[in-house]
Amino acid sequence: MRLARKLQTDSIVDGVGLRTVLWLQGCTHDCLGCHNPSTHAIDGGIEVALSDVIHEIKGCRYQSGLTLSGGEPFLQAASLIEIVKEVRSSSFNIWAYSGFTFEELVAKEEYRQLLSYIDILVDGRFCIEQKDGRLQYKGSKNQRIIDVQRSIQEGNVVISCYDDMNNAL
Ligand code: SF4
Repeated sequence: MRLARKLQTDSIVDGVGLRTVLWLQGCTHDCLGCHNPSTHAIDGGIEVALSDVIHEIKGCRYQSGLTLSGGEPFLQAASLIEIVKEVRSSSFNIWAYSGFTFEELVAKEEYRQLLSYIDILVDGRFCIEQKDGRLQYKGSKNQRIIDVQRSIQEGNVVISCYDDMNNAL
């Protein structure tokens, strides 16, 4: 699999709690004003072995969970399914950022499989016209912070409580 950079730990801005962040290389969304253009090239970044990534994540201490960011994480869904299967637990949750919307993700089998292991999804392309620096855990107002497990159970998008403060802006 390809990462944009080494595994990051102790992030407090990529989801709730102290988080380990996996920065995935490769993105095809080409959002105007993207904050991370160096992650776009599919063959850029660094190649790493899946087993090494899993080992490293398991060795991180005092983390609340793992955040999948990038780049577009779902382009490497098959590898990520193997990782989240190994590391997710009741005390270690999974957040993911994606330029795809929830509806786009559930329409594709492999993406839907990865979603089934994710707790919180921040979805949608970054829209510079809707950018607001006050937003928490997302860059533009069109993006949604979704409770994935409830959304799957209920067959509708359920917005997570973590978006409440953003909706009040
Ligand atoms: S989805 Fe994210 S990484 Fe990809 S172009 Fe949009 S803002 Fe950049």
